[in-house]
Amino acid sequence: MAKFRFKALEEVMNRVPGPLVRDEVLTSDYYGNLVFDRPKMRKYLSREAYKAVVEAIETGTAIDRKMAEQVAQGMKSWAIENGATHYTHWFHPLTDGTAEKHDAFIEHSSLGGVIEAFRGELLAQQEPDASSFPSGGIRQTFEARGYTAWDPSSPAFISETTLTIPTIFVSYTGEALDYKAPLLRSIKALDLAATAVAQYFDKSVTSVQANLGWEQEYFLVDEALYMARPDLVLTGRTLMGHSSAKDQQLEDHYFSSIPTRVNRFMIELENEAYRLGIPLKTRHNEVAPNQFEVAPIFEEMNLANDHNQLIMDIMQKVARRHKFRVLFHEKPFSGINGSGKHNNWSFSTNTGVNLLSPGKNPKGNLQFLTFVINTLKAVHDNQDLLRASILNANNQHRLGAHEAPPSIISVFLGTEVSRMLDLMEESVTDKKMTPEEKTALKLNIGRIPEIILDTTDRNRTSPFAFTGNRFEYRAVGSSANCASALIVLNSVVASQLNKFRTEVDNLVDSGIKKDEALFHVLKRLIVESKPIRFNGNGYSEEWVEEASRRGLTNIKSVPEALEAFLRPETFRLFEELDVLDHKELHGRVEVEYEKFIKKVQIESRVLGDLAINHIVPVAIKYQTMLLQNVSLMKNIFTNSEFEDMSKGRIELIKEVGSRISTIKAMVYEMTEARKKANVIESSADKAEAYDKTVLPFLEQIRYHIDKLELVVDNEEWPLPKYRELLFVR
Ligand code: ADP
Ligand code: MG
Repeated sequence: MAKFRFKALEEVMNRVPGPLVRDEVLTSDYYGNLVFDRPKMRKYLSREAYKAVVEAIETGTAIDRKMAEQVAQGMKSWAIENGATHYTHWFHPLTDGTAEKHDAFIEHSSLGGVIEAFRGELLAQQEPDASSFPSGGIRQTFEARGYTAWDPSSPAFISETTLTIPTIFVSYTGEALDYKAPLLRSIKALDLAATAVAQYFDKSVTSVQANLGWEQEYFLVDEALYMARPDLVLTGRTLMGHSSAKDQQLEDHYFSSIPTRVNRFMIELENEAYRLGIPLKTRHNEVAPNQFEVAPIFEEMNLANDHNQLIMDIMQKVARRHKFRVLFHEKPFSGINGSGKHNNWSFSTNTGVNLLSPGKNPKGNLQFLTFVINTLKAVHDNQDLLRASILNANNQHRLGAHEAPPSIISVFLGTEVSRMLDLMEESVTDKKMTPEEKTALKLNIGRIPEIILDTTDRNRTSPFAFTGNRFEYRAVGSSANCASALIVLNSVVASQLNKFRTEVDNLVDSGIKKDEALFHVLKRLIVESKPIRFNGNGYSEEWVEEASRRGLTNIKSVPEALEAFLRPETFRLFEELDVLDHKELHGRVEVEYEKFIKKVQIESRVLGDLAINHIVPVAIKYQTMLLQNVSLMKNIFTNSEFEDMSKGRIELIKEVGSRISTIKAMVYEMTEARKKANVIESSADKAEAYDKTVLPFLEQIRYHIDKLELVVDNEEWPLPKYRELLFVR
């Protein structure tokens, strides 16, 4: 039998998937079974309660106590019939992941014993002990109360035996303590702003819905190997590990045949997701070995984001059944691709028009260009905010790493749309246009191919790319809550659309025709937002130089990026749109600084421990073996023979010795740097100290450990190596 370096490896080799048991049911037969969706509401709710919920979903009206009571009874009956014994308010605190606290339906019955009960007030609102969730100082510990409030726009569902109710999480004094509340507000702001602009083109538009289609990238690692890597267990990424001789050079993993064990995991994941109404559509191998992607059909943004959070949770649970662990970290392995979460973003009207899709006639195309150009302008003016919204301790390792979106924000439009913008820029020369000019321009605008989807050149290096009928925000990290990026994106675009409307209306009031006013303002926006447009290779060195000439910012560090949130104009922007008030934004940025500090702190501690108690002892042992070997040789061989033979070995002894000393010294210095940083009061300064004085040690220490990995006896190396983590499954 083959000899394995690790017991764990042997375990992995024995995980052979059995034959596939085919399910003879159609997906559509059980899709959404565990969701309290409209058909079920119709069945379990009175006519008026059903109407109240639908109205709440569609127009955001509040549901009163009496109706909530009725909905609670209907929900309870349905949930109990489907095996639920508990209920929970499910929310998105400002951590990575979701939160839930389960309560049983039981209450004492007047006859003794218990009955299943659920009251409207418990559906509508609950008060979890909020003191342990991050608030960035919004909530003082003595006023730790926070409450969760039902979000009827995302349907309740059953998770195992628990009726799960999506909720927002706010402090007792009303400030948002989560991602969902501001996401909903930003969706509302975008709705109002986009509806008003869409009405220039079609008076029957009364609302605009934001859509999101996420693409979730992740790694799978065998559980036994994962457990043997304390760095993966504690930080989600490998803090050391020499690159494997073969990794992604041959590009043989992307879209290749999905390994059977992985496929079984995916099938089970999909089964669970479909029951929960998550419309998973695509699964494939990604670029790096053991890296994969899952993507659903796009949905309304709030629901889509709940589904993303939910799927991340389910993935972890299903993976364990298949003896895998999922890595959502943006950069779990150095030297190969990291993971992102592309956010496909669009918005559509109640009349069924996707505002980011070219229209069927000149008017439709002008509408399309209006929304594209305003988005461009918003991204141009708010590049720093957008970057700050996706940058965190994890994503910092991925951005600008020549494999993922650059740290410079730019927009890829493709040749067709770029050509249209250039044309508009040239043809609009004055506020008042001659009828001929207007006709020519409209004719040209009308020539946008109806489906540019297929002709849009795919540029994979752009952080923000137009892909035919949507923008694809590619810089978002794989472990992130999409809301963190979308709150900002929705808000800056809403704010830009509001400004646009004011300008156009002012021109119209001054006697300019509406279409001329539109052309005129659009032309200016095209000119002003030009620097953000880039169709070339975002990974190239030339782009870095070109971007700097264009005045675009290039920021790679979290503490530096976060400053954008604290500018007076940022506070104004979010306040004007009613998305985040001063206190909320402040609290959020505070939480981001804290998260960054803590993550770097944990990584630094874990690396220090591993270096000293895993790596150094093994290196010493190996060095001792070499020393013994050399001293034995000395007894046997003549001096000249000895000199000849021992030369390489003595070099090795010296190398190992010097690396051991360097590692020990650096771990000491890193600890000292941490101590210094820890006493800094302001979290912004502390984060900067962690970034500048602690973080660099992580790379430097790892460098020496990785070099040792190459020379130390393979049998003795205490951690699974990259070639094992990435290729054994
Ligand atoms: P690719 O890898 O080429 O970007 P995928 O099929 O992996 O394509 O993912 C595309 C994602 O974009 C899917 O989630 C899809 O539903 C979503 N999508 C398609 N059209 C739109 C749209 N108009 N608005 C938002 N998302 C969209
Ligand atoms: Mg994509």
